[in-house]
Amino acid sequence: MNKADVVIIGGSVAGIQAAISCRRRYPQKRVVVIRSEEQVVVPCGIPYIFGTLGTVEKNLVSDKGLEKNGIEIIKDEVVEIDRERKVVLTARGDTLGYDKLVLATGSLPLELPIPGLDKENVFLAKKDVPYLQRMLDAMDSVRDVVIIGGGFIGVEFADECRKHPSFKDGSVTVVEVLPHCLELVLDKEFCQEVEDILRAGGIKVLTSKKVEAILGDGKVSGVRLADGEELKADMVIVGVGARPNTELAKKAGLEIGPTNGIRVDWYMRTLIDEDVFACGDCIEKVSFFSGKLSRLMLASIATSEARVAGANIYGTCYRNCGVVGVFSTMIGERAFCCAGLSEAAARKEGLNVVTAESSAPDRHPGEMPGATRTKLKLIFCKEKGLLVGGVASGGSSVGELVNLIAACIQHSVSAYDIALFQMGTHPCLTPSPVVYSLVDAAELAVKAMQPPIPKV
Ligand SMILES: Cc1cc2nc3c(=O)[nH]c(=O)nc-3n(C[C@H](O)[C@H](O)[C@H](O)COP(=O)(O)OP(=O)(O)OC[C@H]3O[C@@H](n4cnc5c(N)ncnc54)[C@H](O)[C@@H]3O)c2cc1C
Repeated sequence: MNKADVVIIGGSVAGIQAAISCRRRYPQKRVVVIRSEEQVVVPCGIPYIFGTLGTVEKNLVSDKGLEKNGIEIIKDEVVEIDRERKVVLTARGDTLGYDKLVLATGSLPLELPIPGLDKENVFLAKKDVPYLQRMLDAMDSVRDVVIIGGGFIGVEFADECRKHPSFKDGSVTVVEVLPHCLELVLDKEFCQEVEDILRAGGIKVLTSKKVEAILGDGKVSGVRLADGEELKADMVIVGVGARPNTELAKKAGLEIGPTNGIRVDWYMRTLIDEDVFACGDCIEKVSFFSGKLSRLMLASIATSEARVAGANIYGTCYRNCGVVGVFSTMIGERAFCCAGLSEAAARKEGLNVVTAESSAPDRHPGEMPGATRTKLKLIFCKEKGLLVGGVASGGSSVGELVNLIAACIQHSVSAYDIALFQMGTHPCLTPSPVVYSLVDAAELAVKAMQPPIPKV
């Protein structure tokens, strides 16, 4: 029988990372990735196909990374895992034996429980190249699009659709059920900024509105809101989240948790089979902060888990730390990011928080070409002064600023530590050293903590 040492099911973010991390640590092992699709799409790049990139081909993951690392690729769907015999069976009728197995089967878009989802020109954010090509082709002959969901995926689709020649001012509409777009991840003042930019770009933003039905006779003609209002649309894009893809795992008798993800331990081993690991969107996740179950699914989380899984396959190397959560997006010319907990999320968790804000250009002097004002809010836990979150808007530099914040959170860094960070500065590259946003906000937080917490 054809047998590999390590078989990884799934060839997207988690599958690729798990395979590479495994080969790095165990170079003598035969590692095989099996994936359903012929070509893998860059999931985070999907909205950009419809505006900035303009084609699906420009948003594909190259197989070179796997090939360069000596990892074999099989393009076929796994339909069954026989854990007794340690083999996987594929849709084409092939079998492949394994010594260790990694499930990285990802997620599927959530489908709203509303009538009309099956109508022509209703699309979901599917990670599927031929489907995305059909969606792009369909966009050429539509005039009005309604996007259901004002989270990251929805607002990115709206911003990108507006760049597509089919759409004019007022023909792209976002409908969000919460009072603000991005409310689940950003604090309200940042959400307001996002909505202002979308509206200034000619996009209609309807908040506190629920889509009740998708209308049309075969082909979509509009949507009906819960208050009875009808919006004209010849295309609808649903971007309301994702659910773990766990059918295969369920069939194989692996344990599934309350969020429908595959249950794993801190080392990415499934709970009932020590030779089967799982990582990425398909697993059950817990919050770094509270240890409670988390429904966040992000490429940053998937790759971190995949590194743990890949390296731990033949011996424990890493322990997963739970979900920190780092979001970034760009709306118009402005970036919006959050690492860890927003102020609202921290308060909801019952934390006693101190916040501090700093705003400065990301070059110095502010007249330097390309300088953009950064607005940063840091959130600290008052008891120990530990950083639990950061929310920022600004130029592209805030993408890495929140990554630095995420690293600080993950390593329990306090306001006192950050206030004394020796950050390198240069006029062309960074803010001024005296108003370096991260350090400046931390110093303000130290001052705001009453009574002052002594540095230990
Ligand atoms: C539109 C969009 C934008 C996003 N933007 C961002 C962003 O900006 N930043 C961010 O951090 N995250 C973003 N995400 C989330 C991110 O894409 C996911 O967290 C990430 O794709 C998870 O990777 P994964 O490998 O676990 O799963 P997936 O990407 O879902 O991949 C699953 C893989 O498993 C394969 N597979 C499944 N079942 C089988 C089977 N039976 N046999 C063989 N193969 C199988 C699939 O074919 C696929 O290759 C975005 C998601 C979407 C949809």
